[in-house]
Amino acid sequence: MERYAGKRSDWSNEPGTGKVFNPGTKNGAQGPWSARKVVIVGAGAVGATFAYALAQSGAADDIALIDANPDLAKGQVLDLAHGLAFLPAVRIHVGSLADYRDADAIVITAGAKQQPGESRLALLSRNAAIVKEIARGIADADSPAAIIVTTNPVDILTYIVLKETGRAPGRVIGSGTVLDSFRFRYLLSQKCGVDVHNVHAFILGEHGDSEVAAWSMTHIAGIPIDEYCASCGRCGDREAQRKKIADEVRNSAYHVIDYKGATYFAIGLALTKIVAAVLRNQRSVLPVSTLLQGEYGLNDICLSVPCLVGRAGAERVIEGRLVDSELKALANSAAILKQTLAQIGKG
Ligand code: NAD
Repeated sequence: MERYAGKRSDWSNEPGTGKVFNPGTKNGAQGPWSARKVVIVGAGAVGATFAYALAQSGAADDIALIDANPDLAKGQVLDLAHGLAFLPAVRIHVGSLADYRDADAIVITAGAKQQPGESRLALLSRNAAIVKEIARGIADADSPAAIIVTTNPVDILTYIVLKETGRAPGRVIGSGTVLDSFRFRYLLSQKCGVDVHNVHAFILGEHGDSEVAAWSMTHIAGIPIDEYCASCGRCGDREAQRKKIADEVRNSAYHVIDYKGATYFAIGLALTKIVAAVLRNQRSVLPVSTLLQGEYGLNDICLSVPCLVGRAGAERVIEGRLVDSELKALANSAAILKQTLAQIGKG
């Protein structure tokens, strides 16, 4: 068996460098291997649950948690670190602005909590200032990371972070309607009595009240939903059922918040899916919030449409065929978001 012949110092896992020991190749050459590092800004319910899910996924080697409340960040790190023996190899630590420099992904979950009954758009003024400051810190650090925004209202804040950092459009994405789309798939799977993994469906547009259920892109077992429904016959009034499901998706967050004050498990898993797609260059098709530049007839607005998500972030917008009513609803969603941006002088 070959022995490692490098210096002892090469074994070090220096805090903050994000680098770990590189065993090199069989002939002794050292490759430029570095840890897949994720910085989570905001260690509250969403940030910590995401860290927990990400650590279990094995997609990241290094997870740094930053919070305006340093004790909270320390507490979350300790609690997570106590579970390291049960997890795939991963380093979990309290982060600082220096961690931006060699991060692969920075996930912004920092912000104020949505209060019961409070609309996402009403959170805007409280959260815009917070994410602007974070965006400036990322830009100052000249970070190479893809930025994923989760703080609500996510589409507006994604646009603000994009403009504040001056990055290429695909490098700043919002978690958008990834969560809503998974909620949609769950509800369809329950209604149709089919495994959720065999249901493919997207919610598009704003992550919020104007979101659009894209029925024309919905498939069960590869069969368009209209054809599937025709052969299934489980539902009575199909249109009424569809409206009910779309309304339930739209109101899901309000219901969970009414029951328990916040949503964090499903968004933690949705973020893990997005970030793993970036870290592993998976080119997964996900409805993330991204800047549109003519796609679907829309310009200069961030909202969710299916995108290829990989190392470079949202690498390509996939333009599916929507029916006129869906296109109109998507344009309405964009108009609402633009109006909000104009109200805060960002349009
Ligand atoms: P939370 O209050 O539990 O956590 C937010 C954390 O952000 C707090 O710990 C706070 O100290 C921290 N923070 C505030 N300003 C900061 C700053 N400048 N730098 C670093 N940290 C800062 O809230 P939560 O339940 O975790 O939700 C966080 C955000 O995520 C909210 O805006 C919520 O609406 C949003 N959210 C989005 C989705 C989605 O699908 N996009 C889903 C759920 C929640």
